[in-house]
Amino acid sequence: MAKLGRELAAKGVKVINLSFGEPDFHTPQYIKDAAVDAMEKNFTYYSPVSGYPDLRKAISDKLKRENNLDFAPEQIVVSTGAKQALANALLCLINPGEEVIIPTPYWVSYSEMVKLAEGESVFINATVENNYKITPEQLEAAITPKTKLFMFSSPCNPTGSVYSKEELAGLVKVFEKYPQVYILSDEIYEHINFVGGHASIAEFPSVKERVIVVNGFSKGFAMTGWRLGYLAASKEIAAATDKLQGQTTSGTCSITQKAGLAALLGGLETVHQMRDAFLTRRDLVYGLLSQIPGVKVNLPEGAFYFFPDVSSFFGKKTAEGEVINNADDLCIYILNEAHVSTVTGEAFGNPDCIRISYAASEEELKEACSKITAALAKLK
Ligand code: PLP
Repeated sequence: MAKLGRELAAKGVKVINLSFGEPDFHTPQYIKDAAVDAMEKNFTYYSPVSGYPDLRKAISDKLKRENNLDFAPEQIVVSTGAKQALANALLCLINPGEEVIIPTPYWVSYSEMVKLAEGESVFINATVENNYKITPEQLEAAITPKTKLFMFSSPCNPTGSVYSKEELAGLVKVFEKYPQVYILSDEIYEHINFVGGHASIAEFPSVKERVIVVNGFSKGFAMTGWRLGYLAASKEIAAATDKLQGQTTSGTCSITQKAGLAALLGGLETVHQMRDAFLTRRDLVYGLLSQIPGVKVNLPEGAFYFFPDVSSFFGKKTAEGEVINNADDLCIYILNEAHVSTVTGEAFGNPDCIRISYAASEEELKEACSKITAALAKLK
């Protein structure tokens, strides 16, 4: 889709890109200033593999202050993005043939990382009717003697769904019966949450020892290019991931780490300003998408994506007589007809849907939704 979008743009067509998985905001100035200062002060050498001690202490303090979680600095491993933290955890935990339960839709890299670790993904289908959240019964039915790990994101990419503390409690009751199952909780969208406080499954003492919390700076602080994330876990898992990272990338960029430290010490004012802007856009896009006949959409509670079910258009024909067979075809049609770039749900494990990112200006979002509406109305 990205390639097709670029080709169209190269022909002079104005393409509105709603396929991005990153905030459209600039990194806040105080964070950039800290990076400049770090360079001036010559923080330009290798850092410890797990990150500078002051950054790991600041992350430990953040987890206590904002999430009421106790993780000592030595239980934290700073990585090159949450992506590396996830990969580290999977590579350290999963032995060949062990099963990893993943609710669908899920972030694209989860199942590919499980493959790299030679594990087997076991998917649980969550549907738009249930706000794309799984039930405790579904979780229990998916657990087998081979299950090693359950991994999920809340707020979720691609659905924006957020598990409440009560919903997590329901899942925890199941995990209590299966002490061999670890839990990988991807909380990278923590700050883009429209329902009040963020709940982490690590808050439940009965499972905390086997929860690996993954978080980072990309989304909440608009720092995607800086590549900064971390995991917090038991001392054993933290030590294992440190060992692995020591033989792959070593510590992430020293300058980035100093910028991340400033981000954590600088309060959440700019983070909340960005969240509020996302909330305004969410409401705008929800109003527009929910009026399109044939599009089934839920109200996302976090992140910056919609994941509408568009299966009612499958089997319909374009004005040129081409049949829309699936979400891939629909995304290509929307790109060619409406000049709006989206992502097929196939990539996230749900072929009935497409992902629409609202990390774009309100003007672009209005124009995109009106063009999508017109394009879909032409399908017969
Ligand atoms: N987890 C989820 C659910 C994501 O959507 C992303 C990025 O899109 C990541 C992890 C990776 O984030 P990072 O930029 O910190 O590697």
